[in-house]
Amino acid sequence: MKVYFDNAATTPLRPEVIESFTHTLGVFGNASSTHSFGREAKSLLEQARRQIARVFSVQSAEIFFTSGGTEGINMLIHQSIENLGVQHIISSSMEHHAVLHSLERVQKKGVQVHYVRITSDGLVDVAHLETLLSSINGTKLVSLMHVNNETGIILPLKQVAELCKAYGAYFHSDTVQSVGHIELNLAEIPVDFITASAHKFHAPKGVGFVFIRKGIKLKAFINGGEQERGLRAGTEALHQIVAMQKALEISVERMSQEQQQLLELKKYLVNKLTVSINSITFNGQSANYALSSNHILNVSLPLSTEKTNIILLYLDMQGIALSRGSACASGSVSPSHALAAFLPQNKLLLPNLRISISVFNTPAEIDYLVEKLKFFCEQ
Ligand code: PLP
Repeated sequence: MKVYFDNAATTPLRPEVIESFTHTLGVFGNASSTHSFGREAKSLLEQARRQIARVFSVQSAEIFFTSGGTEGINMLIHQSIENLGVQHIISSSMEHHAVLHSLERVQKKGVQVHYVRITSDGLVDVAHLETLLSSINGTKLVSLMHVNNETGIILPLKQVAELCKAYGAYFHSDTVQSVGHIELNLAEIPVDFITASAHKFHAPKGVGFVFIRKGIKLKAFINGGEQERGLRAGTEALHQIVAMQKALEISVERMSQEQQQLLELKKYLVNKLTVSINSITFNGQSANYALSSNHILNVSLPLSTEKTNIILLYLDMQGIALSRGSACASGSVSPSHALAAFLPQNKLLLPNLRISISVFNTPAEIDYLVEKLKFFCEQ
């Protein structure tokens, strides 16, 4: 049996998305060409942009296509410093490495970086964010992720966006793990920038988009042609963009039904783990259904160091795919940086697992996972 519980790393494509992808491959014109082949491609490109914009209640001119989450984050952080005069960035130590490593880089250029406190429950301390916002003078950018990719914990996005607005700070949210899962009406949430990545919502890898609020003028991050209104040069990957739009459309159409399905699967998983494995713990508020996303659960297991080192190998041998920490760090046994932001040292030494589900998972697969984990813990 092979089961996939690593949907925060990437998701399987929906059949409709594969169909849209392969169909669009046939439209080979370059969207920048003025002849009929180019115009056909351009028309599909702009249709995808309009439909994506509609999902967020924004204008199509506020959506820019990218190669994915990492590029979008780098673009927004670096260009807001270059073009908006940002001198201070407020972020958290639980962000994705695309943010954290960008912050290390801009720090070397003289930008001051401030980290908001994380509570012992793994939540961003919003009161501390307000203290930082009120005490720092100069142009500020706040960058905080909406759904944490390791714990699933949700940031109160509207509250944080309103706070940033009240203190005149720009606000970027890495919404890579929430787009397609949580409704985002950006007409009501005064965020300035969001970043999305298609492969997290059942679309292909290597494509994503950013939202940049109208009136904010950023210049090219990648230099070259005039694509994406001069902000992001390079011939647009039409087949990927159209497939991404299709995947988003389906996720949004089925959101209430699929999120209910995911919530039920998550509850089933939490209950099964609780009754089957002694002293398993759920990290932070990861198992709090109101405060965490339905697709991610982060647990720690009561195991020795020797077993900690081989648990992923054991699970892999049983055909079970899941991860420790984020995908890019999962090969290492060093503790996850996101968990290190709020767990005590003794807890960090235990194996933590990120179990991330999709609507393609079944209760029978959860039974199999829990049975294998229980066996491993009891050996
Ligand atoms: N931000 C978060 C929260 C993520 O989970 C990921 C992917 O793991 C990224 C950013 C990077 O996105 P991409 O893989 O599209 O570069």
